[in-house]
Amino acid sequence: RAKKEGRGRWTLFDPQRNAVAVSQYAMSVRIPMALDRGEFFLDYQPLCALDDGAMVAVEALVRWRHPELGVLGPDEFIMTAEDSGLIIPLGRWVLLHACEQAARWADRFGDAAPRMNVNLAVRQARNAGLIADIDRILRSSDLDPGRLQLEITESAMLGPRDPALQALHELVGMGVSLTVDDFGTGWSNLAYLRDLPVSGLKIDGSFVSELHASGEDPVGWRIIGGMVSLAHSLGLSVTAEGVETAADAQRLRAIGCDCAQGWYYGRPVRPGEITRRIVEAAGGTRADGEG
Ligand code: C2E
Ligand code: MG
Ligand code: MG
Ligand code: MG
Repeated sequence: RAKKEGRGRWTLFDPQRNAVAVSQYAMSVRIPMALDRGEFFLDYQPLCALDDGAMVAVEALVRWRHPELGVLGPDEFIMTAEDSGLIIPLGRWVLLHACEQAARWADRFGDAAPRMNVNLAVRQARNAGLIADIDRILRSSDLDPGRLQLEITESAMLGPRDPALQALHELVGMGVSLTVDDFGTGWSNLAYLRDLPVSGLKIDGSFVSELHASGEDPVGWRIIGGMVSLAHSLGLSVTAEGVETAADAQRLRAIGCDCAQGWYYGRPVRPGEITRRIVEAAGGTRADGEG
């Protein structure tokens, strides 16, 4: 039976979907049509400051309302989109819609609006049109570049000669910030921390979730503590992903981690739900969920 649990595991035992899953090619060729038909949408998940719980940013997470398969999570189509190059138009769509949403919140709530985190595939960073795309999107959405933060997965990190490096430096020059996603999973060569103008690290959710599996796990906590120290010694802010319990949040706060993201602080939700949270945090009572 198909079961909704864990990270993007929506479908494991559904034979019909398995049949379709093997045909990644069929899936990827449908992406342009799905873009035309408006089948993609973005949910937003809060990133909260550990000291006072304030929602400082949200991460845009793409989903596909597939006409035959139902709602698909990104783990089911992002890789094929990268392999086929269709991540370029899909990623552009994500950036545009996330920036438009961020601008609506900024217009309505000013400094109380959350910043917008968007995942950037390495293939996008290597695409010659990226700078022009982002520049155009920031202008058309009228979003302050300082409100946009791009997340780049550590496992995809770039060597010193990678053509993406120049583009990433240019983006930072435009006022956009960069953060390392899934930190700790890349068997890293940490040289990119020297070569890339990143301003934050996101500790991969597996570190926090392994703590649950092993109860009190001093080694796991020490590893997280070490990552926090490394980040701070480089002047970077650090966010822990996969924070599911109050106890996790408490320990992370004690370690000095800056922010947290995870079910304890809120699942990925429709934009109207984020709007409701901003209003609530501001002590407002206006009940509308238009986003
Ligand atoms: P990510 O960037 O590391 O995003 C965090 C993932 O962890 C999300 O899965 C989120 O739903 C899940 N998550 C958040 N809190 C918890 C928690 O407390 N417990 C558990 N077990 N999971 C939690 P999602 O939405 O399935 O996204 C998976 C990955 O797909 C993302 O990982 C990101 O790498 C990629 N992705 C999503 N949207 C985009 C996009 O627009 N462009 C690109 N290139 N990649 C995307
Ligand atoms: Mg991310
Ligand atoms: Mg991550
Ligand atoms: Mg991840």
